[in-house]
Amino acid sequence: MPRTQDTLDVSVAGHRLRLTHPDKVIYPSTGTTKAEVIAYYQDIAPHLLPHVAGRIVTRKRWVDGVGTAGKPGEVFFEKNLPDSAPTWIRRVEIQHSDHVNTYPMFEDAAALAWAGQVSALELHVPQWRVNRLGNPQNPDRLVLDLDPGPGAGLPECVEVAKVARTMLQDLGLEACPVTSGSKGLHLYAALDGTHDADYVNRFAKQLAGALEEELPDLVVSSMKKSLRGGKVLVDWSQNNRNKTTIAPYSLRGTTEPRVAVPRTWRELDDPDLRHLTMDEVVARMKRRKDPMAALAAPLASEDRLTAYRSMRDASRTPEPVPDGVATGSAGQTFVIQEHHASRLHYDFRLEHDDVLVSWALPKGVPATTKKNHLAVQTEDHPLEYATFEGTIPEKEYGGGTVTIWDSGTYELEKWKPREIIVTLTGREGGGLGGRRKYALIKTDDNWLIHRMKLS
Ligand code: MN
Repeated sequence: MPRTQDTLDVSVAGHRLRLTHPDKVIYPSTGTTKAEVIAYYQDIAPHLLPHVAGRIVTRKRWVDGVGTAGKPGEVFFEKNLPDSAPTWIRRVEIQHSDHVNTYPMFEDAAALAWAGQVSALELHVPQWRVNRLGNPQNPDRLVLDLDPGPGAGLPECVEVAKVARTMLQDLGLEACPVTSGSKGLHLYAALDGTHDADYVNRFAKQLAGALEEELPDLVVSSMKKSLRGGKVLVDWSQNNRNKTTIAPYSLRGTTEPRVAVPRTWRELDDPDLRHLTMDEVVARMKRRKDPMAALAAPLASEDRLTAYRSMRDASRTPEPVPDGVATGSAGQTFVIQEHHASRLHYDFRLEHDDVLVSWALPKGVPATTKKNHLAVQTEDHPLEYATFEGTIPEKEYGGGTVTIWDSGTYELEKWKPREIIVTLTGREGGGLGGRRKYALIKTDDNWLIHRMKLS
């Protein structure tokens, strides 16, 4: 293909990007150019982006192209975002055991165009996402990499995948297969985020062991490659917090421009199942939905402050309205706020799981052990609310003046779904007048707060 121009200035998703050598051949076997790689990533962006949303992206770059089977091109893994990268690519710093890396996050088609520009053909992501503050969360996906050894191929992987699918279904998990574009299959299942990466990794290891027991002639779950002749390695280890897997719809650095493609289980029954190239993927997505759409979580995921945010307009209230949930606070703070809203009440808030669990007390905290007061649970509030005092405009939710009646720390005696016992230590001159012990008890339709004797 003749080189017509050495640079091309383009506008993608509102960002300016300079493409250099757009006619450079990246895949010699098909003559696929850098411009065509970028075009693929633009076409597939609506399907690819949801699968990488909130995930750090490591890149495999072939700056001089992938070469040929006989003479492969040079490739390197890149984690840190180079200084030369456009400033509009979102960056996130991740603390590893002994160093910090700055990774890019791909949030729009422009970031994908940049990847094509620097010949970052392969995009690899972890199975966890960061929240809006950039803090890593628990994994939201499980992945099993079914990797055929010598003498095995896709048919063997399919056989293993079907048994794995049944095992996962028995555990309430629905698996989606992905032809990796390299050799084998990946299986993904959505997780609810209640378990950390270590737990998920151990679970995946057990699953691989169970598959090996069920299919001893076909499966190995050990990394020792000498065992792998004619068999499928079920690689469970990519659920490790520090590992990544090729992103769904990423190109591969294979001699042909192949892609990691989510497939339907019906497609896996096709005896002619094979890996697909980028042109085939673009054509198929014009007439199909993403088979992995159920695992493509919405970009703005819900958290414990979703309700809180939905009730407030940050431009109209002086209250803190943080984008994310602050994590990592081990403190046990409390605050009781006097709130002159349409009716005077006191807001009783206890720090728990990175939010302030909150109740509105129409009559405040009981002063004696004799009489309990009603406590109406309200939406979880951000930790930042513990120091909030001010006037919420009349027409806004909770309009009126908020002052701190008392605040401090608590000692926890019990935190059960229906009973919480805490000893509060208030501040100098606070409404509690020092230390007081309270129990919150859930009744059938509400909560009561009861003052207890200090033990
Ligand atoms: Mn209130």
